[in-house]
Amino acid sequence: MSFRCTSLGSGSKGNATLIATDSTFLLVDCGFGLKDTQSRLSAKGVSAEQLSAILVTHEHGDHASGVARLSKKFNIPVWMTRGTSLHKSCESISNLHFLNGGEKITIGDIDVTPFTVPHDSREPVQFAFYSAAKKIGLLTDTGRITNHTLDMLSECHLLLLEFNHDAERLANSKYPAMLKQRIAGDLGHLSNYQSLQLLKRLKKESLQQVIALHLSEENNCPELVQRLCQGLDINAEFQIASQEKGTEWITVT
Ligand SMILES: [Zn+2]
Ligand SMILES: [Zn+2]
Repeated sequence: MSFRCTSLGSGSKGNATLIATDSTFLLVDCGFGLKDTQSRLSAKGVSAEQLSAILVTHEHGDHASGVARLSKKFNIPVWMTRGTSLHKSCESISNLHFLNGGEKITIGDIDVTPFTVPHDSREPVQFAFYSAAKKIGLLTDTGRITNHTLDMLSECHLLLLEFNHDAERLANSKYPAMLKQRIAGDLGHLSNYQSLQLLKRLKKESLQQVIALHLSEENNCPELVQRLCQGLDINAEFQIASQEKGTEWITVT
């Protein structure tokens, strides 16, 4: 049985990730419009009818703007925290189930543990996925690394990890001061440095692959992230998800 994942696209203009086995397809977040999502799914050989569930990390538009329409059109169950569900973009979701940080749920043959993270939204979570004795971790939209996050992501086989910005580029960017503070703050996004620190501190004997997600088009660059990751003394492969195409399917072996 294969346990695999693919990004449908990642960045401030929209995020969606598929986590799948042979029979279960979980879409994590949907920050793309209906047509766009369908064509991104079909580029990965998946149809919306095959989706077992949509899991939502938090209500920001780049993660949640496409969830309600996709769920309604194909009657796909949606899982999110109560806090996330209070946002107006989530009000019209009828096939809705609630997540609580630290409480495992099972969908098809994938176990999912949501865990709380510091981010400037109502009740944000990120996820650890388990199937066939393998683990895939997901962490984006997080302002700082907590011990809880390190615990929840320890001993992943595959890690999808935010590399949002280069701190210096952000500081020198044309962004307004308030926005700079928000992004760099404890409830903002992970800088390249923070993500590298996480990788250094993480328990990672089983780690095979790291996928960099949510790169800022303004304040980061894929070549820089690639170079930084290759400089780490870690026995894992690295690749970067793009806003336009995401990644290929990546199988945990
Ligand atoms: Zn985001
Ligand atoms: Zn966010």
